[in-house]
Amino acid sequence: MLYTVTLNPAVDKVIEIAGILEREQNNKIKKVLYDIGGKGCHVSTVFSALGLPNIATGFIGGVNGIKLVELMEEKNIKCEFINVENTNTRECTILVDESNLGSYMVTEAGELPDNRSYNKLLEKIQRDIKKEDIVAFSGSPAAGFSAEKYCEILKTLKNTGAKIFLDARDEYLKEAINLEPFFIKPNKHEFQELIGKKLERTEDFIEEIRKLNEKIEIVAVSLGDGGSIAGIKGKGVYGFIPPKVEVLSETGCGDIFVGGVISQYYLKKDIEEIFRFATAISASKATHFLSSDFSLEQTSKYLPYVEIIKYK
Ligand code: ATP
Ligand code: MG
Repeated sequence: MLYTVTLNPAVDKVIEIAGILEREQNNKIKKVLYDIGGKGCHVSTVFSALGLPNIATGFIGGVNGIKLVELMEEKNIKCEFINVENTNTRECTILVDESNLGSYMVTEAGELPDNRSYNKLLEKIQRDIKKEDIVAFSGSPAAGFSAEKYCEILKTLKNTGAKIFLDARDEYLKEAINLEPFFIKPNKHEFQELIGKKLERTEDFIEEIRKLNEKIEIVAVSLGDGGSIAGIKGKGVYGFIPPKVEVLSETGCGDIFVGGVISQYYLKKDIEEIFRFATAISASKATHFLSSDFSLEQTSKYLPYVEIIKYK
């Protein structure tokens, strides 16, 4: 079974403004739509689009929690979240106007789960997740959630024996490294922050990736439209370059990339095929506006155009 764990998911409210958004004016709304928010939840959309069995868990609450589950179930994602009483899943507002200058994103911090809900999640992990399962543990918790608690969840996940694919940043990523997840995918900024210095040349990235590979099986650093560099323990370091595409929004590309990697790993594809697919599906995401919107047809078209480099 494929699992995703999202500690601070969201409902994205996308507001389309007629004309150009202006201060101190009445800006008329053309259309409002709701979308799945939260990194792990985006990963789940890739699994379900490919028809792979998967379960999404983490914390939800209130009417927004119900709304999120509805949105996910519409996409055939099985939801088994812990419902945190007296909280409401956060809402992220995305404002788009007709200027073609990109969108505004306004996000809520999210509410902390109480101890009872926290323990329920740990119990659920211990009870349900088996060593043959694969888990995507993606995104940061709500502000104020300690790195100790975050690591406790990661430790509990690791103790199940399942393979852990982690997408985190800042203190959470730093602490998580010591627990040796199977896979990490920092983007360029997150990676440089983790290493604690600016990396200029591709060789600098490769060197740092190789060092991390001593502990972590797969280290993939994503570079936006520059693709990714991935080090695989015992196999070496590769570069994956996407084809040039017409970009609408790069938000969420990382999540779809992670979903692409995990799905192909689950299907037992080889390393080059795994990353070729992840690169193609995340390039397809870049041509769509919503964070978890991509096309499998487009992905198939892009596959042969992904360039693969094997570094010495
Ligand atoms: P997010 O956190 O918003 O999901 P990220 O910053 O973690 O994104 P990126 O490095 O932006 O992740 O993108 C992940 C992958 O998506 C890249 O490695 C690349 O393969 C693909 N990608 C991103 N932007 C583009 C683009 N403009 N054209 C083609 N592919 C892209
Ligand atoms: Mg990311």
